[in-house]
Amino acid sequence: MTQTIAVIRGDGIGPEIMDATLHVLDAMQLGISYEFVEAGLAAYEAQGELLPAATLASIAKHRIALKSPLSTPIGEGFSSINVSLRRHFDLYANVRPAISFPNTKSRYQDIDILTVRENTEGAYIGEGQHLSADGETATLTQKITRKGSERIVRYAFEAAKAAGRKKVTVVHKANILKTTSGLFLRVAREVASRYPEIGFNEMIVDNCCMQLVMRPEQFDVIVTTNLFGDIISDLCAGLVGGLGLAPGANIGAEVAIFEAVHGSAPDIAGRGIANPTALLLGAGQMLSHMGREDDARRLRRAIVATMEARDGTTPDLGGNGTTQGFAAAIAARVNG
Ligand code: ATP
Ligand code: MG
Repeated sequence: MTQTIAVIRGDGIGPEIMDATLHVLDAMQLGISYEFVEAGLAAYEAQGELLPAATLASIAKHRIALKSPLSTPIGEGFSSINVSLRRHFDLYANVRPAISFPNTKSRYQDIDILTVRENTEGAYIGEGQHLSADGETATLTQKITRKGSERIVRYAFEAAKAAGRKKVTVVHKANILKTTSGLFLRVAREVASRYPEIGFNEMIVDNCCMQLVMRPEQFDVIVTTNLFGDIISDLCAGLVGGLGLAPGANIGAEVAIFEAVHGSAPDIAGRGIANPTALLLGAGQMLSHMGREDDARRLRRAIVATMEARDGTTPDLGGNGTTQGFAAAIAARVNG
């Protein structure tokens, strides 16, 4: 049976890393076909719109999209396309694995942390923003709901269960932010009590940052609110060697979009040296989401083996390979 996904080749290094990623997926013979749609600068130049209706319709139809980084045109008045997509499809869970890979310059080995960030509430709702007339006082509204907290914590536990993970850590600041973070923590405890087979602990966000840097191996799955999750997931990416290896998924009840965390890297675009690994790992998250855990594992194993052998690795990993050459080296290992 063939499944179709929406594919956005994106801007900057986007087309290069997407071609590389699809080359590897094709080599895996997954029976997945692609509908190519546009967004970002490419869409703006071709169709006069950053996020065309046909693109939204394709994503809604196939319910799964693989997306390269997008640029917004320079100038005022353009809002982030990623935020638009998140709002349009109510993509409430931002899921970012941070996994150690061989032969990187990272400080740690053996890290395997999944950060689950609530993506629609908290400090980022854009409500109640007020600056007093004299410009001396600024305020902002944070919003936490039972429904929003419940679904993100449930997502974290379900993800833990599906991946055979052992522990979920809820990260909060309920001692100070008593109403908002307090509600999140209470709901997290309730949800956790329904998953007795999975360990659960609580950590205050400042301590969590210190623990992540000092003893990252104690973490398995982290679930937290929007602002804390934004910061912690980047911290985790830094623990394992940075942007070229950091994928992310944006997941809603109907639609899920998989991507690399990094941007369009205009400084190296068109030179064929971008590292495709982050997007490939995003494709791995996509396969897990489709229930194809064996294929996801096969893909990750091939990436690890290729990095282990330093076969065609790109300059950011200390090699002198190309995007396509590295992808070909990975593709050669996916069936072995
Ligand atoms: P944008 O405006 O789209 O966010 P940016 O340049 O601000 O782009 P990134 O694209 O995230 O931010 O890039 C930050 C740095 O990391 C750049 O020097 C870029 O070349 C490098 N970089 C990002 N992604 C990759 C990659 N996949 N392979 C190699 N280098 C990368
Ligand atoms: Mg950037």
